[in-house]
Amino acid sequence: MVSGHPPLGARPELDARLVAALERVGQAARVSLRRETRRHGLTPTQAQLLSRLRTDPPRHRRVDILATRLDLTHPTVSDAASALVRKGLVRRSRKGPDGRSPTLDLTPAGERTADELEAWQGPFLRALAARSAPEKQRTLGLLLAVIEHLQREGVITVARTCTTCRFFRRDVHAGPRPHHCALLEVPLGDGDLRVDCPEHRRAA
Ligand code: SF4
Repeated sequence: MVSGHPPLGARPELDARLVAALERVGQAARVSLRRETRRHGLTPTQAQLLSRLRTDPPRHRRVDILATRLDLTHPTVSDAASALVRKGLVRRSRKGPDGRSPTLDLTPAGERTADELEAWQGPFLRALAARSAPEKQRTLGLLLAVIEHLQREGVITVARTCTTCRFFRRDVHAGPRPHHCALLEVPLGDGDLRVDCPEHRRAA
């Protein structure tokens, strides 16, 4: 221990360092994503929208639902969608499956752009490549627990993680995949837990 300093690993200081590390990682993610969005002549909101449309099922591809899920206002998402339509990356259907409002779909050019935007993850994937699977599973579990807590506190409005999903059953199997998804009817290991599942339903 260095004289005058609290012991390394004491909990509050360690927690503070973890929060600082999360902030740095979040900032790095924003920088990397911004680089990719600029390269494609898009705004961050337009890029977020393309990314959602790439993975979300058709019933979720309405401006009102997308606005809620992205924590943005309806006009902001509507403006971004209109810009993407003008760029030929998105098209609006006449009506949504419920007959009320149009859904948004990627055009083939939009699909290509959405795929290319995923390159923002490259530096992070390279940083993780050499780490062991158990280390990554523990880290995923820790991050999911933090996300779950932040959602309970209202800091995160929408978290589509397994651990906040009504279909998640924890520790119901023996063996390496102890958890279960009651919707997909599949066992889940700690490393299989999803962070952004399009089928997620918020637990009561
Ligand atoms: S529906 Fe998706 S989020 Fe919910 S438990 Fe199944 S895999 Fe996880």
